[in-house]
Amino acid sequence: MIFIIPKVNLGLKIVCVFAFLISGIMTSHTFWQISDTHVNYCYRGSTSNTAANGCSRGTGNTGNIGDYKCDTPYWTFRSGIKQMKEIDPNPDFILFSGDLFGHKDTTSFALLKVFEKTIVTIKKHFPNIPLIYSLGNTDLWPRNNFSSETHEDYLTEISTIMSDDFDDEQKKTWNKYGYYSTIIQNKLRVVTLNTIIYYVNNKLTKGLGGDVYGQLAWLKNQVKLAKENDQMVIVHGHVPAGIRKNGYSSYKTHFNNYVVDKFNSIESEYPGIIKLYVFGHKHRDTLRITHAGTPMLCAPSFSFYYNVNSALARHFQYDLNNKVFTSYQNYWSDLNEANEDEKIIWKPLYNTTQSPMNFNNLNNENWVDFIYELEHNNDTFQIWYERRKAMYPMPICDELCKKDLICLIKTLTKTEYFDCME
Ligand SMILES: [Zn+2]
Repeated sequence: MIFIIPKVNLGLKIVCVFAFLISGIMTSHTFWQISDTHVNYCYRGSTSNTAANGCSRGTGNTGNIGDYKCDTPYWTFRSGIKQMKEIDPNPDFILFSGDLFGHKDTTSFALLKVFEKTIVTIKKHFPNIPLIYSLGNTDLWPRNNFSSETHEDYLTEISTIMSDDFDDEQKKTWNKYGYYSTIIQNKLRVVTLNTIIYYVNNKLTKGLGGDVYGQLAWLKNQVKLAKENDQMVIVHGHVPAGIRKNGYSSYKTHFNNYVVDKFNSIESEYPGIIKLYVFGHKHRDTLRITHAGTPMLCAPSFSFYYNVNSALARHFQYDLNNKVFTSYQNYWSDLNEANEDEKIIWKPLYNTTQSPMNFNNLNNENWVDFIYELEHNNDTFQIWYERRKAMYPMPICDELCKKDLICLIKTLTKTEYFDCME
């Protein structure tokens, strides 16, 4: 490849060529990650205080833009997709990390209708942009429950609705098991897992030990193929590894120790190939870390459900030539303000390049250093804590609360967590 650099002196030319030779040309690429949209297509706002929260009944004090106890009105979701398009209409791809169905809708018939309308809305605003979808626990009927045996037809219907985004090769694993991989510009492999098979509330795979549906062997092979083809990997899914807690007394893990051990062993066998794990499900901006220090990033939700402000979607920048994820930008919108104005606008919340993170990229060592900072610098911790629910007012986090949150970041199994809390 020959580069002609006009009107610069020879010294500068040599410096430019030398910089290219040692580092490769930086190529800035982007993608969006949207998660937990939970659209309720029957939502009706109301200012009547005569009944409990109505959400879709037009009763209770529910704003037209949304409510912290309700699923998302369609028009709010559509405004969000429009704003994503205004910010970046040409990402390389969009990750949709699951849970597009509402918490309050209840039939399997509605499921595919909701699915189709949600996908069509995104595609209308982002035609020709690959959309990569991961199955969420609310995207199933009965909710939370998946088995290959009972859901093959349903998965096939999904890949038919998303026919632009599934080729025949991808359908082979998706239609049967709900996992598949996508290659972006020959340099990035997005490996989308079906995490619902590990989900603690999934009764259909409960008790199945070992490598359920061969997903982990398949993941390992994807990482091996990535290495052979000089690609980097994002592991994508809905439910993250790590502890799930209700208060201080209930501890469960979605992924059992067998699965977590496999994740860690794949990373030791193929170091540096998996750059990021990205999930949804938590509705809060959540961080976990593997033994190798690779970040598991749970995007905050689009939905307000579970008392959070909408975080719109997460916008990532990456450099394909140098195989580096550079940064991400989070957004937020104050729901009370939006309901007063009867219109919702999302504002930037934080960027990983800015204080207190100041990351030059999203590589492991920056996360390891940041977790150390969270543990030892209270100002950094408080800033991070306030951002978790996209600036929804949070109670004061005392020393025990702080220790608990830090241990949840640093551990993926119950044994590790309890050792950390000692
Ligand atoms: Zn959700």
